[in-house]
Amino acid sequence: MQKSQPKNIVILTGAGISADSGIATFRASDGLWEKHNIEEVATPEGYARNPELVQRFYNERRAQLLDPKIKPNRAHSALAELEAHYQNKGIGSVTIVTQNIDDLHQRAGSKNVMHMHGELLKLRCVKTQQVVEWRSAKPVTNADRCQCCTSPQALRPHIVWFGEMPFYMDEIHYKLSRADLFVAIGTSGHVYPAAGFVANARSLGLPTLELNLEASQNASQFTDSIYGRATDTVPQWVHSLICS
Ligand code: NAD
Repeated sequence: MQKSQPKNIVILTGAGISADSGIATFRASDGLWEKHNIEEVATPEGYARNPELVQRFYNERRAQLLDPKIKPNRAHSALAELEAHYQNKGIGSVTIVTQNIDDLHQRAGSKNVMHMHGELLKLRCVKTQQVVEWRSAKPVTNADRCQCCTSPQALRPHIVWFGEMPFYMDEIHYKLSRADLFVAIGTSGHVYPAAGFVANARSLGLPTLELNLEASQNASQFTDSIYGRATDTVPQWVHSLICS
């Protein structure tokens, strides 16, 4: 475990941090996400083949996320508390890089969040790539059009699908180059490039910590690990850091 208090922390989060909020994780082993084949619902080819099915899939995910029962959990809140503590005390920065498309980090109060795989509550024009907010459970259909083109175009989910380039890669590498600690929470280590950040961090000489339910695919690359539910391990880790 890190002995002196790190100044700049980069935290990668994955589906596991939202599991205790009631949002199912993505299980790479069987290639299914909420009983759907990922080739059909999470690739540009799937969208080209059947845009209705893809819109329906994300409409269901969006409606679930906006259900009042879905709330940030103790792990999201602890990270927001850590960021606020670092800012208020002038210690340094806490950056969350999330693979999650939900908005639970923001709802918990985190400000410094990069959604490298996009956001469920946003859509974008297929022609200009202009992003619009869609904070409503009203289903998106292929009849919904952008307002940015003279000949209005379809609005696709603002999600990074398999085979597409994640967002914020330059900013993430910059943040890693300035960090004193890299932490991964609730991610299986199957999806690249996020799964490669621990190797980037190690090559920069950073300590690396995994907080996960079980050993991830790339567990051996972490210098430290704590296993258990994020709702238990994350508040404990944050408390130990704040009190160190
Ligand atoms: P993953 O489903 O591949 O892995 C989740 C990891 O979290 C697993 O290692 C699992 O052991 C662990 N886990 C499960 N419950 C946990 C808990 N209570 N506490 C701590 N850890 C727990 O997820 P991934 O690595 O993030 O990759 C999946 C991809 O699917 C991402 O690209 C993401 O965009 C997408 N996805 C997002 C959401 C979301 O936004 N909440 C949900 C499902 C899938």
